[in-house]
Amino acid sequence: MPGLFQESQAPEPHGSPGPVVRVAVNVNVWGQYDYLWGPQMPPPQRGMRVKVPFGPSGRTTWAFVTQIDPPVGNHKLKYVLQCVEETPQLDDQLWRLGLWIARYYLTPLGMVLAAMVPSAVGQREPRTRKIAYLRSQKADWPGKLGSKQRAVLDELLQARKQGVEGLSVEQLRDNSQAGADTISRLARRELIEIKTRKVTLEDLHEQIESDPFDLNEDQVRAFEELKPRLDGGFSATVLHGVTGSGKTEVYIRAIRKVIDQGKQAILLVPEIALATQTLARLLRRLPRVAVLHSGLTDAERDFHWRQIRQGNASVVVGPRSAVFAPTPKLGLIIVDEEHEGSYKQDTAPRYHGRDVAVMRASLAKAPVLLGSATPSMETWRNVQAGRYDCLKLARRVRSLPMPKLEVVSLRGEMERGKIELIGRTMTQRIAHTLEKGQQAILLMNRRGYASYVFCPSCEWTLACEDCTRTMVFHQATQLAMCHYCNRTASLPDACPACGGKILLFGMGIQRIEGELARKFPMARSARMDSDTMTTPGQFQKVFEDFGSGEIDILLGTQMVAKGLDFPKVTLVGVLSADTSLAIPDFRASERTFQLTVQVAGRAGRGDAPGNVIVQTLHPQEPSIRFAIEHDYEGFAAWELPAREEVGLPPCKRMIRFVARHRDGNKAQEGAAELSARLRTILSGQNVDIWGPQPAGVLKIRGQFRFQVLLLEAEAGVVQSRLYPQFARLLRGISAEILADVDPMALI
Ligand code: ADP
Ligand code: ZN
Ligand code: ZN
Repeated sequence: MPGLFQESQAPEPHGSPGPVVRVAVNVNVWGQYDYLWGPQMPPPQRGMRVKVPFGPSGRTTWAFVTQIDPPVGNHKLKYVLQCVEETPQLDDQLWRLGLWIARYYLTPLGMVLAAMVPSAVGQREPRTRKIAYLRSQKADWPGKLGSKQRAVLDELLQARKQGVEGLSVEQLRDNSQAGADTISRLARRELIEIKTRKVTLEDLHEQIESDPFDLNEDQVRAFEELKPRLDGGFSATVLHGVTGSGKTEVYIRAIRKVIDQGKQAILLVPEIALATQTLARLLRRLPRVAVLHSGLTDAERDFHWRQIRQGNASVVVGPRSAVFAPTPKLGLIIVDEEHEGSYKQDTAPRYHGRDVAVMRASLAKAPVLLGSATPSMETWRNVQAGRYDCLKLARRVRSLPMPKLEVVSLRGEMERGKIELIGRTMTQRIAHTLEKGQQAILLMNRRGYASYVFCPSCEWTLACEDCTRTMVFHQATQLAMCHYCNRTASLPDACPACGGKILLFGMGIQRIEGELARKFPMARSARMDSDTMTTPGQFQKVFEDFGSGEIDILLGTQMVAKGLDFPKVTLVGVLSADTSLAIPDFRASERTFQLTVQVAGRAGRGDAPGNVIVQTLHPQEPSIRFAIEHDYEGFAAWELPAREEVGLPPCKRMIRFVARHRDGNKAQEGAAELSARLRTILSGQNVDIWGPQPAGVLKIRGQFRFQVLLLEAEAGVVQSRLYPQFARLLRGISAEILADVDPMALI
């Protein structure tokens, strides 16, 4: 491999050995380790990525150089195996961001740095393209030229007449039907010349589209207020705009202003938005857009990374990890739909993309813009405390009305003895919508066919053997599945406890799908959930079909709530607002409110007004009442004091420790020991310690889980105390301990 320096074996010690380096390995260990640096390798620098043998097995692992020539003892050191680059991928700013993440999120530095630099980058030659240039006048062309050769020359001449000098060899071959040998023959005859040049983002772009409309009055006001902040210096601003208020348009203008100053912008979006129109719109409207997401091949990722790092990309779009894009001239970070839970990573490092964005902006002395129709309580509290400014877009674009929401009580809707999930009102409205040739989006936030496989006579319920959770029946496979560990089980013929008859009950999306097909046999519908959507291409296909009217009804889990903009959607149905209320988590109300407002926001974005039907067993639930009224501030004024009273985030900051073990006693003992140590270390501090207590789900994948919760008044204070002694804190504890700072879920 190019650019890769290898010491296959410890070199013979001719003269002096290389320097010693200290590295942070990408392994869940708290120490850093020393290695010898091979004399064949380029000089070591802090932040360089290397491969080292690690642990008793000597397994090769990635590591990052943290220190050169540290004080070492006289024990025997191993050699660094490879150094993959001559200069570190992370500049000083990103390095400092990495250190902050390690401390704040209580994660070993090597794991943090490895998450910041995709392993695929910097390990191959940059992509190149061969370009053919015309090196002769038509008058000089020899009389006897093969027809293929003539076709190639004509093609280049034609391009020149249109003001284009040089065509890529691929394009030339496509257009002229000539083979590679024809082209090289022309080059040998010096009629054309072939040059190799690196591919850049410019090569991927067609023409930039001009603005389709002027900003409206509200957008202008927001943009004018934002403008001075775009000149530089750290600031945090919330763009609180109702659904359909045109936030994306404000982002585009802000990004453009930053590009005009020769700087780069990062736009973070929830993962799904990458498959949707947001990205397509940006790509058409802005120059040199780089993308970084999980759907890229290694070669593509490497290409975009390079373009960003060389300063050529003007905008980077991607999910949470794009916050680590190596932009040398960062001028703005935007976090779209900042309330989205998917910004939090659920494996180590368990960072929150939005919060890291704010920290990065402050290190870069750049502004950060957080957009949402339903800002998170964390962000709203920062607005109220005056730490963030807030700009509002209170109305939809083109004076479109907000969709009208109506709550129907599921109890009243069900006919006696018949369990139907699409109630009477909902059925009528769907029929009506289809008659008018309009489209509907239905939200059912639970996968599978039915929630429970259970016995009505003895109340036995089919549960996962590895997790303390009921399993969910899936129609397609005819199997019950555990949504925590994906274990499957077949349905028993009879109740294993009493031999009675088994019943399927509950409301999962597959069951709705069946009901929909029965009630509207002529309608074309598509289902969108994590069981049907496994690749980005599948999303794209459904979005295209829905956009072109091939599909009448789009049925989905929360995926359909996010950012879709289809003008023919006039009906949105929330089949059960209760599913998100039932999660055992202090954010259940907030999620229910957000989900309802967000999915309702998909209705009425075209000329016909939108209607939303919300089915629920709890029509008086405040989070649903506030959502119906589009009353975000009312919701916040009800929710925040409730959290304040109990001392929950965002009023306090939470750190969650989970002790895991296959043996339930060991897990519990581990949590108890940890909690005792924490109480000692943190005594006299302003910290509440809750637990040990069973985690929201006691057992997952065969491991028992107990948690200890710390609640601190000020962010980061506990971490700065715990981080330096974390290894010691965990030493000898019988269970595996995970730390999750600012957890998004307590399952
Ligand atoms: P949001 O993200 O706030 O829900 P979008 O940015 O998706 O809203 O905009 C909603 C729709 O309004 C889009 O189709 C967009 O093209 C259109 N739009 C945005 N700004 C304007 C404007 N000033 N005039 C007319 N249409 C607009
Ligand atoms: Zn039974
Ligand atoms: Zn399970």
